[in-house]
Amino acid sequence: MVIKETGILRTASGDGEFVEMIKEAGGENITRCYQCGTCVGSCPGGMSTPYRTRKVIQKALMGRKEEVLESREIWYCTTCFTCYERCPRGVDPTEVIIAIRNVAVKEGIVPENFKKSARNLLATPQVTSCP
Ligand code: SF4
Ligand code: SF4
Repeated sequence: MVIKETGILRTASGDGEFVEMIKEAGGENITRCYQCGTCVGSCPGGMSTPYRTRKVIQKALMGRKEEVLESREIWYCTTCFTCYERCPRGVDPTEVIIAIRNVAVKEGIVPENFKKSARNLLATPQVTSCP
């Protein structure tokens, strides 16, 4: 159950565990979100995908953990930080999405393509000095 209090979505008791996990993973301002949608209007990650930052945050605040962690949408964020600069509530949505990804990784929920990218990155020799 979700209740509204002074215009801000708050989780009812019993479904706040996921929100606490996100806060601990770096998305401490998630509960400031009042669902204005400004983040969606300027999001390149959602231009040609179903990804909607506001919806992800809404579902997270509602405690819909499995649905959020198992959705591909959370991996469409390009971490461009546009929403970070524009959010009127200081939610730091980029940090919230990164935190949600971190929770997903901890729970072993990562799309195979992203695992491959990470493996390739780790296997690529690092450049230690400029030529
Ligand atoms: S811009 Fe900020 S307050 Fe508005 S929906 Fe996005 S995260 Fe929430
Ligand atoms: S940081 Fe991610 S969620 Fe925010 S505008 Fe950029 S692509 Fe969208």
